Amino acid sequence: MKLDIMGLQFDNVTMDEASARAEQILAGKKTCYAVTPNAEIAYEALYDETLRALINGADLVLPDGAGVVLASKLLKTPLKQKVAGVDFADRLLSILEKTGGGLFLLGSKPGVAELAAQKMLEKHPKLHICGMNDGYFKDEAPIIEKINAARPDVLFVCLGAPKQELFMKDHLDALHVKLMIGLGGSLDSFAG
Ligand code: UDP
Repeated sequence: MKLDIMGLQFDNVTMDEASARAEQILAGKKTCYAVTPNAEIAYEALYDETLRALINGADLVLPDGAGVVLASKLLKTPLKQKVAGVDFADRLLSILEKTGGGLFLLGSKPGVAELAAQKMLEKHPKLHICGMNDGYFKDEAPIIEKINAARPDVLFVCLGAPKQELFMKDHLDALHVKLMIGLGGSLDSFAG
C-alpha cells in the first residue's frame, strides 16, 4: 500500500516486505526501478515537480531516513518503519547470492566500486558481481552498453539524487535489467 507523505507516494512496507517485493520483481519480466528518498530529498521534491514525478513513478519508494518516518507520524499517516537504502541494498545482496543473479555497481569516485565489491564479497562470498563503473562518466551511451553487456539482474545506481533518478527513468527501456535502485552514497558506505 502507498502512503502519501508530503506529496511523495511511499510504499508502506517493512524491510521484510520490501525484500519480498524485490524477489517478486526479480522473478518477473518487467524492468523496475526503486528509489530511497530521505527527508532532504522529500523536502526538495516539495518544490520540484520533476523530482516528485521521478520518485512517484518508481515501482518501489522506500523511506530511507528516520526523518521521513517521523514526518509520517506527525502527519498522522505513519509508515511502518524506516527502510534505509544501504540496508535494503544488503538484503538485495543476500537475495542475489541465493538466486545467482548478477549485480552491476554504478557510481562513486574511481576505485570505490572495486573496494565496495571486495567488501560485499567478504560478506556474501557467492555473490556474482558482473561489472562496475565509476559515476563520473561524460557519455551515457557507452555506459548503457557496458551494463547491458554484463547482463546484470540488479543495478545499483549511486550517482546522488536527483542524478540517479533521472538516469534510471531516462534509460528504463534501454537497460536490460530486472531491478535498478538509486542508492546515493551507498557504495562509499560499503567501501567503508
Ligand atoms: N556521484 C557520482 N557521480 C556524480 C555525482 C556524484 O557518482 O556525478 C556519487 C558521489 O561520489 C557519491 C554519491 O554520488 O558517492 C552521492 O552521495 P550522497 O551521499 O551525496 O548522496 P545523496 O545524499 O544524494 O543520497
